[in-house]
Amino acid sequence: MFEEKGIYPIIENRTITTMKPPRLGIAMILSGPSGAGKSTVCNLLRQRNPGLCFSVSCTTREPRNGEVDGRDYYFIDQKNFQRKIKNNEFVEYAEVHGNFYGTLKSEIIERVRAGKDVLLDIDIQGAFHIRESSKQYSLLEKCTEFVFLGPPSFGELEKRLRGRGTEKEEVIMKRLETAKSELDHWRDYDYLVINKEVEQTVKDLETLFDILHKSTKRLEDSGFYT
Ligand code: 5GP
Repeated sequence: MFEEKGIYPIIENRTITTMKPPRLGIAMILSGPSGAGKSTVCNLLRQRNPGLCFSVSCTTREPRNGEVDGRDYYFIDQKNFQRKIKNNEFVEYAEVHGNFYGTLKSEIIERVRAGKDVLLDIDIQGAFHIRESSKQYSLLEKCTEFVFLGPPSFGELEKRLRGRGTEKEEVIMKRLETAKSELDHWRDYDYLVINKEVEQTVKDLETLFDILHKSTKRLEDSGFYT
């Protein structure tokens, strides 16, 4: 799905050359409250679509069991995180549940310029910051698509957060409180995908990518029909 499918024949001086449409990649921002299933959905999408890049974020939180540095996150300390802020290396960063998380420019910009699609798993304030930055940076504005991944209900969200068994009660309460206020933000997004069943959600997102590939918004206008 993420390989360039369309080959467009162009007749030039009686020789037929083929060219791919010069298309910028999509930066799909998958956002929503903690417990909506963002990581599970992202992991499955990545496994099934090796051509899809994933934006690995930096975080100051400790790795959980099974998490790999450089694959799930770049696990860095506070000092290193502050240095990256100072060097202007982040598109956005935020404090989420007491830890810092940040999206590196290097994970997105060159890839979308090269026509590659990038998937981002970020929280709601991070998505908001990217939306704000994109108003001043036309490349970001063209490439970003904002998808709100929502749970089927608040009750289901609570069940999932408790079912993880990785967090203490105090952390769960904090996350639930944040989630309650975050659910209303679906209105600020371009698309709403309800994660009722993970297989279907992944299919929905693959279909969404297919449709977004047809958008003229990311096509360079030079040389398409010449
Ligand atoms: P977790 O610690 O469970 O992996 O992630 C906690 C929250 O931080 C999730 O909602 C996740 O989407 C969000 N998050 C992950 N990476 C980033 C990032 O680079 N920026 C922001 N703002 N949030 C992030």
